[in-house]
Amino acid sequence: MFGPVLLAASRSDRMRRVVAAAPVTRPVVNRFVAGDALHPALDRVRALTTGGLDVTLDHLGEDVTDRATAHATRDAYLRLLETLREEKLGARAEVSVKLSAFGQALPDGGHDIALEGVRQVAELATSIGTTVTLDMEDHTTVDSTLAILRELRPAHPNTGAVLQSYLFRTEDDARALAVDGSRVRLVKGAYKEPASVAYQDRREVDKAYVRALRILFEGDGYPMVGSHDPRMIAIAQDLAARNHRAAGSYEFQMLYGIRTAEQRRLADEGERMRVYVPYGADWYGYFMRRLAERPANLAFFLRSFAPS
Ligand code: FAD
Repeated sequence: MFGPVLLAASRSDRMRRVVAAAPVTRPVVNRFVAGDALHPALDRVRALTTGGLDVTLDHLGEDVTDRATAHATRDAYLRLLETLREEKLGARAEVSVKLSAFGQALPDGGHDIALEGVRQVAELATSIGTTVTLDMEDHTTVDSTLAILRELRPAHPNTGAVLQSYLFRTEDDARALAVDGSRVRLVKGAYKEPASVAYQDRREVDKAYVRALRILFEGDGYPMVGSHDPRMIAIAQDLAARNHRAAGSYEFQMLYGIRTAEQRRLADEGERMRVYVPYGADWYGYFMRRLAERPANLAFFLRSFAPS
């Protein structure tokens, strides 16, 4: 019931100012965001990687409307990758990028500006032995994001993409991407999408997730199972067994701070488990999507306003 309202609020500048200014917000945000800046987040990353988990780091930001901020996003990722090189974390840490933070929606040549920015990031990632995954945002960006993936893959074949099972088009996209060397993170989808392009019923989204999962596991690519849902995880493990996939020929991914015991359990079972670690000051949109996904998170947030 609150999900659509929170997703609409996630793109409201007025709500952003209200939520960010509330003194009680920060401790709740810290549950989902690893730090305001790279260095505190790196302490969390080290704790995860020494515990046998892999990570993908997200420098928070999205919906950039000017070139200077788009370039600042690129520079933040270049600094992040230099730090991963210095800290010798390249084997366990990759990066996830939102192309809207690289200027994808800018009116004059946004697609090309985002492509050039992310190309530089992919070049540095390749040189330190790691990879970039292109997060997927709302449905209006899918064609541009997949076109950028196609541009990057000849020089950087390990560049990853994200597909969202709530979109009607995803089975076709999964078939096209289930090819040798291709890395695809399958998620259910976190944006507010119209009924003309996306399933609205959670059961339909789940069924579509299983269909796309099957395509990816039967194909030649590298499936990345981005879900906290125990049923989807069990089905993925079953598909891995049926398709004779060894551990390490696919992976599980979950978000920082969510179902951490399950993250540990899967890693202890010998599965490759990667944690998506967001950091940075621009946490508002990411945080609101996490509240929208689960009413209990909203209740936790609202309880933090109550006098103790
Ligand atoms: P649900 O059915 O939503 O949840 C299953 C169970 O997981 C819940 O019962 C609960 O126990 C737990 N859970 C789920 N969400 C939360 C939460 N917020 N807080 C606490 N518990 C929770 N979406 C995109 O649109 N684009 C992306 O690029 C993208 N990247 C992602 C990367 C990763 C690694 C992951 C894990 C998710 C990503 N998502 C992305 C979000 C995704 O689309 C879903 O919104 C989110 O994962 C919730 O769906 P679920 O599969 O976990 O299943």
